[in-house]
This record gives sequence, C-alpha cells and structure tokens, in this order.
Amino acid sequence: MLAFKVLAQDGSARLGRLTTAHGVIETPAFMPVGTAATVKAMTPEGVAATGARILLGNTYHLMLRPTAERIAALGGLHKFMNWPHAILTDSGGFQVMSLAGLRTMSEDGVAFRSHLDGSRHLLTPERSIDIQRLLGADITMALDECTPFPAERDAVERSMELSMRWAERSRRAFVEREGHGIFGIVQGGVHADLRARSARRVVEIGFDGHAIGGLAIGEGQATTFAMVEATVPFLPAEKPRYLMGVGKPADLVGAVKRGVDMFDCVLPTRSGRTAQAFTRQGTLNLRNARHADDPAPLDTECRCPACTGFSRAYLHHLVKAGEILASMLLTAHNLTYYADLMAAMREAISAGRLAEFEAP
Ligand SMILES: [Zn+2]
Repeated sequence: MLAFKVLAQDGSARLGRLTTAHGVIETPAFMPVGTAATVKAMTPEGVAATGARILLGNTYHLMLRPTAERIAALGGLHKFMNWPHAILTDSGGFQVMSLAGLRTMSEDGVAFRSHLDGSRHLLTPERSIDIQRLLGADITMALDECTPFPAERDAVERSMELSMRWAERSRRAFVEREGHGIFGIVQGGVHADLRARSARRVVEIGFDGHAIGGLAIGEGQATTFAMVEATVPFLPAEKPRYLMGVGKPADLVGAVKRGVDMFDCVLPTRSGRTAQAFTRQGTLNLRNARHADDPAPLDTECRCPACTGFSRAYLHHLVKAGEILASMLLTAHNLTYYADLMAAMREAISAGRLAEFEAP
C-alpha cells in the first residue's frame, strides 16, 4: 500500500507525490543505482545532498553477496547501508539474464550459476519477492523475463505471456505492509499490440504502480517513445509509472512529456567513473587535454561540490592521475545534474510550460 497523489498535470506529464515507509518522493523522480548496497563512489549523505530521495538496489547482486538473509538479520537494507530514504529493488531477472552463467529457464523460474563463485541458485517469482521483503524494499518489483532484443514476434509474445503469469505469482507472494508496495511490469518488446495486451493484464492483476520494462536495450529513442505511447493510455492515472533503465537527459524529458513519473539508469554514476560529465553546455570528457589549463568550474550553474570547489583543470588532473576523488566528484556532479533536471521538470509542469522544456 503506497499513497500516490497527482498534484498537477501538463499535457500527459504529471507532478506527483509518492509516500513510502521511508519518506516522500516528488515525481517525476530519478533513482540513482545502488547496485551492491552502495551508490559507487558516493556516501549516503552525498547521495541525499544531490536531492535523491529514492535509490534502486539490485536483488541479483545482494542475494549472492552478502545474501538477503544476512542483510535481514542485520536490520534490513536501509540500516545496512545507512540510507534512511526510500529504496526500490529490482526483481533480479534482468541481471540473471545479463550476468549469470549457465541459465535454465522454466515455467517455475530461472536456475543459474553465480558469476562470483559458480554456486547454483533458483530465482522464482516467489523467491524474488521474498528476497525483496527480506531486504526491506519500499517498492518491490515483480519478476519478469527480460526479452532479448531483437527477437522474433512469436518469441516476444511467449516471453511476455510468461512474464504475465510470473506477475500474478509475484503479486500473490507479496506481503502487504503499510508504506510498501509492489509494481507490475509491462513487456511486449517493440510491438504496440503486445504492449497494450500486457498493460491491460498487469492492470487487471492489481499493483501499486506500473513499470514499462524491456526498453532502452538498443531499439533507439524513437521506438522507446513509441512504446511508451502505446502503453501509457492503458495505465490508470492514479498510480505511478516507471520507465526502467532510462536514460539520457533527453530520454527523461521525452518520457516525462509522455506521462512517465520514475526512472533509473546507471548512466550518471557509470559516466562519473569514466570521466564523463553532463553539463548545461553538453557532455564533457575530463580526460581531454583541452581542460588542462581551464580554471572554470565544470558547470557555472551547478551547486554540487565538484562545481563549487574545483576547476576543470583540477578535475582533469585527478582523472589523469587516476585519483579516486575524480570518480567521487564527477559522480556527485552527474547525480546533482540529474536531480536538478528532474526538479526543473517538476517546476515546468506546475507552471504549465513543460511543452517548451528541453534537456539543457
Ligand atoms: Zn556540479
């Protein structure tokens, strides 16, 4: 049971407020990715200072190490990682498909070997939901099968139907707690009719929110947007909508304009560790020698610790020297950029001028 309230609308875009057991999230919202119970190169205080009030945790990584049972015994994931705000956990399905070895799919679930030590595991809808309960997730995700792209339409349809049966089992396995909820995931590849069928089915099952999955895996932005447009009309207005694994700043703006409320992506954090910075003047590569003598900050309008304390020349030096501080400062900057982008969109929605809003 999660409370979600739409406060304002501008075209298809919504300004919303999602209330969880660990605080309120203003939407549209971006969720930084905290894979192994940490947002890489950041302290929890640093993440909160960017403005983020919800993180994504990865079930696959945490079930293998340190294990969900150990985290539960130590008081849950919020306490374990000292993050007092909300946490959404994924179901583990996507990473089983992308990281685990020797997978065997069946109606029951997916059997696989750990990429860490080769140990055998079985991930079923019931097990995934139980792991997410042990972690203490505010938002639990239903287990789905991540359909590869490209794939034949028949294969996409069979995969989507399996995901729908798993969605029902996931819903049934979820233990209701105040301030905690479960989201169902719409699949269907790049086929509008399959997306529509999947959306109707997910809504029928009855979830606290709806995710659009299986996109941003190489189909291109125009197709991603087309699939969002094929899905959103079937989703009830009074529940939050989450576009999984998206994306670049322009993807976020386009999806918010099409009615999406929540996002997650590794892009700002991963880019921060590879010397890429998102700025209001475009993307910068701090490895580039043209920054070596530049006394200016990364982004003059940014409030983050990298921009208020340091020059591009210094950040370039840290990158060249392989210093850990380079990753820390650039990650803090990128997450601040994303948080400020979402805040600017929320402001534009409440002012009724999102139509002219573009990613800076
Ligand atoms: Zn900055």
